Order: sequence, then C-alpha cells, then structure tokens
Amino acid sequence: MPSHNLAKLKIDDLEIIGYSVAAEETVVAMPQLDTCFDIGKAPDQVISINNVLLSHGHIDHCAGIAYYLSHRNFSGQKPGTVLVPGNMIRPIQQILDAWGVLDGSKVPANLVSVEVGQEYEIKPNLFARVFPTKHSRGSVGYTVIEKRKKLKSEYTELTGPQIVELKKQGVTIDYPVEIPIVTYLGDTQYAEFGQLDYVANSKILITECTFYEDEHRERAEIGRHMHVEELAKLVRAMNNKHVIITHITHRTSLAAAKKMLKKAVDKQDMGKIIFLMDKRARLQ
Ligand SMILES: [Zn+2]
Ligand SMILES: [Zn+2]
Repeated sequence: MPSHNLAKLKIDDLEIIGYSVAAEETVVAMPQLDTCFDIGKAPDQVISINNVLLSHGHIDHCAGIAYYLSHRNFSGQKPGTVLVPGNMIRPIQQILDAWGVLDGSKVPANLVSVEVGQEYEIKPNLFARVFPTKHSRGSVGYTVIEKRKKLKSEYTELTGPQIVELKKQGVTIDYPVEIPIVTYLGDTQYAEFGQLDYVANSKILITECTFYEDEHRERAEIGRHMHVEELAKLVRAMNNKHVIITHITHRTSLAAAKKMLKKAVDKQDMGKIIFLMDKRARLQ
C-alpha cells in the first residue's frame, strides 16, 4: 500500500504524479523524465526516481530528502542524485550527517550544488537548466530540456547509405535542437519568466498559484507567492501548451479557486490550465 494517494495526470506520453498544498507538502514527479521536483514527505511512489530537483529549503518541499535517500539505500538502489541550490548544500549535508548519526550508518547521497544559468545532465540527452525565482534566498526553478540533433533540410531526402558517406567525408549533416519539455517554478512571486525563452516555450509549465481571493493579495506579497491575477498575466505572456497549478492555500477550496481562476484568466488560456490536485482531472 503506497504511503500517499497522489494526484496523477497524463499529458501525451508523460505522467505527472504528485501532491501539493501550500505549507503542507509539495512533491511533483515525472517518472518518464526520471525527475522529481521537490520531495515534500517522500511518498513511496517517488523513491525509485533517480533525480530530485530541489527548488528551495522550505520544509514542505524538502523534508522527505533524508527518507528518500535512506530508503533507496535500504532497498538496494544506487544513491539518488539531488540537485540542490548552492546556498542549501551545507545545511542539507548537515541534515543527512545528523540522520546518519541517529540511524547508525551514513546516508549515501549524490548531492549536486547547482547555480543559476547552469545545466545538469539528468539522463542521456536530458538536461535540467536552472534559473532564479523570487521566493526565498537562493530559490530556483528548473526547465528539463531534451537535446537532439536534427538533419539539415538539404539532407532530408538522402538515403541511409548516402548519409553515412557524407559523415565519412566529415560533412556536418545535422544541427543541435533543444526541446524544453517542462518547467517547474517551485514557489515564487510573479516575475517575468516569459523573458526566458526556454521557460516561455516549455510544453508544460508547472507553477504555483497559492492565493485567489482579493483579500489574500497581501498574504501573497508577504509570503512571496503568486495571486491568481498574476498567474493570469504570467500565462498570457507564455507559449506553454499545458499549465499545471500547484500549491493552493488550504484557506480556499478547490471549487472556489477554480471559479476565481476562470474570472481572472483569458478565455483562450483557460483550456490549457489544470490544477494538480483536481480529482476530476486525474487519470488513475
Ligand atoms: Zn511551499
Ligand atoms: Zn516556500
């Protein structure tokens, strides 16, 4: 019996499983990308995923890290790779060291300190690019990008042997292309993320939208979170095909949030937005 009853969505061939309620827990995994964004309380379903990408140090986003790593060790899996914003690497290591003392054995981990503007290979041809967000000191978001090579248009008519021949002659017949698959914003205030082309053009955008009600604008400002009016502005400025909303406050019901979203967002954008925690959108 899995530890959590997770939300489950499917977009084309990509599954998205997770749980996200503000201040409670956020974990969003994409098994086909071997990637888990944040790790809340480490649900059983994400333990076998090899890469965890942490956005910031709030406990509802990364309390599960020691359990994830230790449980992989316990079940004979290789240490998980955890991308950690640079300013968090020391405290995360200290947490793991302390758990190692309590547990009687070291918690094996492959911690990678990440910097804004850099990218990290998560599996062959798949990279996580890091960009800054506006939430806590050093908080980051990630875009998972597939890198492929595409045949130049002048060679698309050639047969296999002709291509092999050209390659032998040292002719460059292809060029690199980048396909931004998904962007995860973690927790953040509104910022002009659309200025980053790989964010604006990600097929899937996973974004927080914590607050909806008019009287919650100040809460959004203080907690450095997004209000639905800002989400509407954000979505308008981007080209994402699908937008998944995470991190709703428990102060607003999903039904009420949906209504306020509908009011705030442009009509043509409404069809591409889903709430991660919307049971009606789940595919089990
Ligand atoms: Zn949070
Ligand atoms: Zn936070």
